[in-house]
Amino acid sequence: MVRPEIKRIVIDPGVKDANMALSIASGLSIAPEFMSKEELIEDIRGNSGKDFFKTAKKTLFFTKNKGNFLKKCPGSRGVVCCDYYTLNSVTGCPYDCSYCILQHYIENNPFTTVFLNREKAVDEIEKFLKKSRKIRVGTGELADSLALDHLLDETGFFLSEIENRGLSEKVQFEFKTKSAEINNFIEKYRRHRSVETIAAFSVNIPLFQQNEEHGSATVEERIRSAKQLSKEGIKISIHFDPVLMLDELFESYMELIDQVFGTLDCSKIVWISMGGFRHTLSLTSTIRERWPESLLLKGEMFPSKSDNKLRYLATSRRKFYKAFIGRIGGYFNGKPPLYMCMEKPFMWADLKLPLIKEVFPKGKNCLLK
Ligand code: SF4
Repeated sequence: MVRPEIKRIVIDPGVKDANMALSIASGLSIAPEFMSKEELIEDIRGNSGKDFFKTAKKTLFFTKNKGNFLKKCPGSRGVVCCDYYTLNSVTGCPYDCSYCILQHYIENNPFTTVFLNREKAVDEIEKFLKKSRKIRVGTGELADSLALDHLLDETGFFLSEIENRGLSEKVQFEFKTKSAEINNFIEKYRRHRSVETIAAFSVNIPLFQQNEEHGSATVEERIRSAKQLSKEGIKISIHFDPVLMLDELFESYMELIDQVFGTLDCSKIVWISMGGFRHTLSLTSTIRERWPESLLLKGEMFPSKSDNKLRYLATSRRKFYKAFIGRIGGYFNGKPPLYMCMEKPFMWADLKLPLIKEVFPKGKNCLLK
């Protein structure tokens, strides 16, 4: 496993308790720098040449979050919502996926931001639970949940806080990753087993991982990691997202499904999502400019009226989803805990896909349980 390279540790001088940042810097033998966000942006833009992305990916900026950590997953207009909450304790990622929406964000924030006041994130969960029975939440929306866990110990922090505050029964905490960084996770989970913990692995065909998910773990490494975590008692979720719905890749996706579910203990898999590649028009130019060899823009895509995102034709989507449902269903006695990410209601109806109760608690057709 190749770990992401971190070259700079920068601390916001306005932060009072920066012990965590200082100890990470010392562990990496990096001399910490003290700069405000504005100064750091200017410094990186001025000194990093044309592709400041590479510098940005190797820089950690430690500061305080003055806004909210907890957010409802924004989803997209006109798609079926799975009632997921995201916790943005870190924004930015050392990996460099060609389809990542953070490529836009990085223009104005050329570093990975780590918020030091993360206790507030758990305060927000606690507050939310005063009004709601349960929350399904994860840290992987604007970051990879585990890629830097050996440094940031996000798993240890969140699992211990949730347990110590007596929230274990009410929280399903998902760590979503494209890494194989699991040692610290296992160690911390062993100490806080009461928390319902889900390790989510985003998987794709090897060609896609090599071509589009720069710096991430290989698909084999991810599956191996999932297997190891599952043996520890950690629940697993698998995300086939984004799927490149091109005819020439169809068989490779079927092989991937066999590889994943032929290797893992399916009784430990709590949910599986699938989502065809979709993107905004503005991402198209970024992909063309930064990743001319990308496979993402092959195949016909059309904008949707409701959310302005480009998607594959409904016929292609239907063909792939149907095949996924059938193939994955074979490993789950015909009842896979499967749902679609950011798909339209008509596609759910066409596929007669039941909503899974755990994921869609307010859904009307929760047939599985
Ligand atoms: S792993 Fe996720 S957050 Fe990181 S670059 Fe890839 S898509 Fe973006």
